[in-house]
Amino acid sequence: MVSVRSHTADESGAGAAAGLARVAQTHNFRGGDFARWTRTCLAVIGAGTIGWRLAEEAVLSGAHVTVFDPDTGEAVNRGTQRCRVGVPKVAALVTSCDAIRPGHATGYCHDVRQVGMRALQACDIWFDCTDDAGLAWALTELSNGLARPLFRCAVDGSGELELGRVLCSSAASGHACQVCAYSVEHFLGRPARTPCQGELDNSRPPTIAGGAIAAATAGLALSLAQRLVVGTDRDAVRGHEYVLDWTNFQMIQLRLERSADCLSGHHVWECLETNVTAERGTLRELFWVAQQTLAARVTALETYLLPLNVQACCECGMVRDAVGSDRAVAPACPRCGRAMSWLTETQTELMCIEQAARLGILDCALNALGLPSGALVIAHSEDRPPLRMLLVGCEPGMAAEASHDVG
Ligand SMILES: [Zn+2]
Ligand SMILES: [Zn+2]
Repeated sequence: MVSVRSHTADESGAGAAAGLARVAQTHNFRGGDFARWTRTCLAVIGAGTIGWRLAEEAVLSGAHVTVFDPDTGEAVNRGTQRCRVGVPKVAALVTSCDAIRPGHATGYCHDVRQVGMRALQACDIWFDCTDDAGLAWALTELSNGLARPLFRCAVDGSGELELGRVLCSSAASGHACQVCAYSVEHFLGRPARTPCQGELDNSRPPTIAGGAIAAATAGLALSLAQRLVVGTDRDAVRGHEYVLDWTNFQMIQLRLERSADCLSGHHVWECLETNVTAERGTLRELFWVAQQTLAARVTALETYLLPLNVQACCECGMVRDAVGSDRAVAPACPRCGRAMSWLTETQTELMCIEQAARLGILDCALNALGLPSGALVIAHSEDRPPLRMLLVGCEPGMAAEASHDVG
């Protein structure tokens, strides 16, 4: 076994800077503040067909990326994604970005909802590159709330068309968000996530989309992001959707109408920075902080995007009370000793103090309940607006492997 460093001194030093001098002269940056781009961090949510291309190109052009994806590379991905079979997609991508420009990428092998809000808050622009339609609502609300532009990047997965699209949702800047045109029916009838090839769901076809249209879509998203950050044609980016119709060789630009009655409400949040840590803080402490701040009785705490399961079940039929978010590990079965799974049917985002006391979790450490550092907990009361409380800190991201083994 021989270990080699993933980069050389020249790549991380003068060589890299010289390469960027040419990038700074390209149309998107000319006349703008290129240095600002090199300080920008992009949240890339989903390291699949679009996400990895976007992340690598962003790092190549001098920006930083934070990648979120819970999945592991599979053989079926190998035709469209640069992943490694059996390796978390985030680990492979961070390593590959590190080989391009060391130290510009970090990531989380988790669903973005389970990482804690601060990891997203630390990024300047977000890209939803997942095939999870259920994420749209949560990410739009977060994008509005934290005032971060959100790009929705997608390709047609039917295999019938060469079609990609990039939409820039930016309600906090006074433009449209991606759900401005949505009706209540749209939410009720929203499609479930399209399963990837190889997943055990025979009721839905797999995503069939090639690398060519995915590369074009990632390139378009990157170009729009560069213009947004340095100010080139910024108003042609915010509140717009671009459709790449490569079946018919055309690109369509759509301006999205901002709705005054948007279901998302376009609220920009004020968050309370608490001193509560995930390691030592408890629900009792959060109830107390909320009560003091609101000067009102707190009816419930909402573990935002991290609903708490209150029961676990076993293949043997045993069901027991236990509390934790999907991020927490369910307990072992008291009857047969096997690992149990959370019973998601009974999970809840709202916890009143009486229920927490009944479940015996008022004094549990928050991270034992599956709440990460930097998580958002919202306190509700009867006559005050919701109080958004942020836990201290941010979950540590994944650094690239320091060396590669060459067999
Ligand atoms: Zn809207
Ligand atoms: Zn059992």
